[in-house]
Amino acid sequence: MHAIRNLRFCDKECLCLYVCPTGATDTESGQIDFKKCIGCGMCVRTCRSHALTLAPDNFPVQQPKTAEMCDSIMEIAKQKVEAEAVCKALKENADSPVERQLMEAMEISFRRQTEDLYREAGYMLPQSANVRKMLIGMLNSNDMSFPKDKALKLVEMLQRQER
Ligand code: SF4
Ligand code: SF4
Repeated sequence: MHAIRNLRFCDKECLCLYVCPTGATDTESGQIDFKKCIGCGMCVRTCRSHALTLAPDNFPVQQPKTAEMCDSIMEIAKQKVEAEAVCKALKENADSPVERQLMEAMEISFRRQTEDLYREAGYMLPQSANVRKMLIGMLNSNDMSFPKDKALKLVEMLQRQER
């Protein structure tokens, strides 16, 4: 096990820095130093912002999915994507700042719901073929706005476990 930090939730309270026995939380990048982390979980129990979690080193084998399950997940995701597009259009035509803000919040909410749906259904698990395919696609693209060296490292590190 290793601790991982979600920077979106981290409010820089720094309690993790004091409890970590190895200094793994004290890094320039804000990410946990995996070489130092021993997976004791002290930081996870201490962080009041719930920014830290323990992740397994070896991911479980992904469960196979039936065609019916895939179809229903895709159908729900399609509805969420459509709802996001409606909110986006309403935001762009909003009559007031409040209305615009509300539509923007709903747009983001639908996007997160779709992401959660895919993640929970296993489409975005790190070891899945889908994530591998996405990373390789990004590596082969001309888009220079994301860290290709990190994506390459992930592709090399993540063991694919899918039947
Ligand atoms: S204790 Fe939690 S909120 Fe505070 S710095 Fe560490 S991860 Fe961030
Ligand atoms: S799990 Fe333990 S060793 Fe790893 S970062 Fe948290 S406190 Fe430090």
